[in-house]
Order: sequence, then C-alpha cells, then structure tokens
Amino acid sequence: MTALAIVPETSVAPARPSLIPALTAEKPSLIGLSREELGQALVEAGIPEKQVRMRSAQIWHWLYVRGATDFGAMSNMSKALRETLAERFALARPEIVTEQISVDGTRKWLLRFPPRGAGRPVEVETVYIPEEGRGTLCVSSQVGCTLTCSFCHTGTQKLVRNLTPEEIIGQVLLARDRLGDFPDAATPAGAIVPGEGRLVSNIVMMGMGEPLYNFDNVKTALHIAADGEGLALSRRRITLSTSGVVPMIQRAGEEIGSMLAISLHAVRDELRDELVPINKKYPIAELLDACRAYPGLSNAKRITFEYVMLKGVNDSLSDARELVRLLKGIPAKINLIPFNPWPGSAYECSDWEQIETFSDVVNRAGYASPIRTPRGRDIFAACGQLKSASERMRKVDREAASVVGGVAAAL
Ligand code: SF4
Repeated sequence: MTALAIVPETSVAPARPSLIPALTAEKPSLIGLSREELGQALVEAGIPEKQVRMRSAQIWHWLYVRGATDFGAMSNMSKALRETLAERFALARPEIVTEQISVDGTRKWLLRFPPRGAGRPVEVETVYIPEEGRGTLCVSSQVGCTLTCSFCHTGTQKLVRNLTPEEIIGQVLLARDRLGDFPDAATPAGAIVPGEGRLVSNIVMMGMGEPLYNFDNVKTALHIAADGEGLALSRRRITLSTSGVVPMIQRAGEEIGSMLAISLHAVRDELRDELVPINKKYPIAELLDACRAYPGLSNAKRITFEYVMLKGVNDSLSDARELVRLLKGIPAKINLIPFNPWPGSAYECSDWEQIETFSDVVNRAGYASPIRTPRGRDIFAACGQLKSASERMRKVDREAASVVGGVAAAL
C-alpha cells in the first residue's frame, strides 16, 4: 500500500492564492503573536478586559485551526468587532513569488516579505516534501546566513535579517493554504500528498539560516506550531536543526523542547572547520558534550546527525568508523545525505556504492542510518540548495556583467 496519494484532477478545485492578501508592513499582523501578545493587542484595540481571554481563544482557533485569512470569516464574533479588528490588524500571508513543483511532488515556494529595516523586501524559500505517511515542511529562519558552510548554497548568501515569528509561522500557514490542509480547503488537482493524516505533519527548521541565531523568534513560532488548540503539531514532529551553536543547545531543549538535529558532516575538527566553519568556535568534542546533555534525550527522543556525503572528502570507511565511535552513548539517528550540487559548488556527491558501504558500517553499529533519497533536485529544493531567486539572479547578472566586461577588455 502506498501512503502517497495523487489527488485526482476532477476531485477538487485548485487553491486560489490570489484571493489571499499578501503580507505588507502597513498594519501589524495577529499571526505570529504569542497568546500573551495577542491578548495585549486586543486590549490595545479596545476589547474589554473581561472578553480578552475568550476573544483570544476564538481568534487563535480561526487563525490556526481554520486558516482564516480574513476577519470577515470569523462568524462567531459580531460584525462591529470584526470591523474593528480589520481596521487595526492584518492576517496576511507571505507573497508567493514563485511556486515550483518537482516531478517527485516536492514543492518549493519563493516567498517575499516586507523589508522591516532591511532596505528592500526580502525573500526566502520554503520546501514541502511529501512521503509515505507524512508531509514535511522545511522552514527558513533567516534571510541568508552568517555561517558559510562550504557545501551549502545558502551559505553563499550574506545574512540580510532574521525572520519574525509571523514570517516563520506564515510559511507553515501558506503551505497549508496551498496544499488544502485546512478544514474548508481543497487540495490542488494533481498534488502528490500523503494518503492519510495531515498534509503538513512535520516541521523541520532546516531551511535558510541558523535557527539558534534567531532564538527568540524561532521559539515563539515553534510554540505556536505546537499549541494544542491551534496547529497542534507534536513536539516530536518538530525538529530544530543547528550547525552547532553549542551555548544555545541546552536552552533550545529546555525552552522549545523540539527534536534536535545536528549538521555534523565531518568527524575530524580540521575537516569540520572547513565544511562547517562554526566548528572553529565550538569543536566536535564540545558539540557532542552539549548533545549528551540535551534535555529529554532518550531512545524515544534521539538526536539526528546530518551527514552530507562528499566524494573523497568525508566518505571513507575510517570516517564511518570514527562517526560510530564519536556517537557512542548518544541516542542518535544518522541521516546520510547524498550531496546535492549547485552551480559553483566545489564538491561532488559520493558514489552510490560508497554511500551504501558507509551506511553498512553505521547500521552494523546499531544506528538507523537512512540514506535520504534526494528530493526536489530538479527544482533546487534539496538539502543545502536553497537560495533566494533574487540572489541567484544577481549572481547571474554579475557573471553576465563580468563576461561582458571581459569581452569589452579583449576588444
Ligand atoms: S548549512 Fe545551515 S548554517 Fe550552514 S550555511 Fe547553510 S543555512 Fe547556514
């Protein structure tokens, strides 16, 4: 039985995103506020204090259970109240610049947000990966990144700014809109989605940026995602992935409580310094000590270690054996990720046989080590390939300019 379903074209109407207002910086949004902040916003809008708790609960339900994008839909509130709210607040979604759909059903959205001090609107990518029994949304936390991991396309894009909780949770709401994952919505014709259960069942903070460098906003957004009266995603289905910001790992466990993933990628400091330069600050031994102390760690709550397979760089059998030795005693899963090349990348993907041999060593040591099948490669949606399209275009422009410059100089 396959748990992936292709929605027949005749069964449902496609989503109509153009009817949903796009996010602007004009009015503050109620999306992304914590429950306390939402209550405070209602007080400031003149809602009587004794009603605030009830109104907050109603609005929370409309936003996160029903996916409302318009106060007019909130039928259990008076018309006057809906008008007051609409005058003061927005419920907008991120603007969709492009939506790409891979042959394997992976979807990638390029989303645009207001500048918020960045000088111009900013763009990030969000990726949806349908699999048997689950649909995973890979969410971005920053526009660009400071960490320059050498195998990662995002790392070539300078940090522009942190995303706000509204923008982080907005990626989840937008994906649910586009997939028809709210009660009154329809799944687009032809979409590849899990055959049962929620279409967005898992969130991984593994898109653009280092989430632990945007801790407070990520924390607020993930609390909203896990709120049992709203999006209600189990913390076991939310994974925060870090390149290894050691001082923040304990706090993440205590204050967010999600699953943890570590971008490890190398077993020796000299190599990890090159692949994941934050290693120079927090070397492997310190990182693994922080992992051992991660709150709630158990066989049921294992840490995922991400390991990108780079041909001739980190894929030897001695690397595999050292990986096993290093992780001894840590409840862990190891994700082997075939490298996804991007224009200008300096690495090649390991040969498939080598990946399997590496995986055998790790499996024999008792670690589940699925080889993550590359997804969405045809739309540059795979791990380490994310970059905003405007950045890609700027690079193309720069390259074109340098070619033109070179030709001019030769004349
Ligand atoms: S792997 Fe993550 S932390 Fe490293 S450059 Fe890419 S986005 Fe930044």
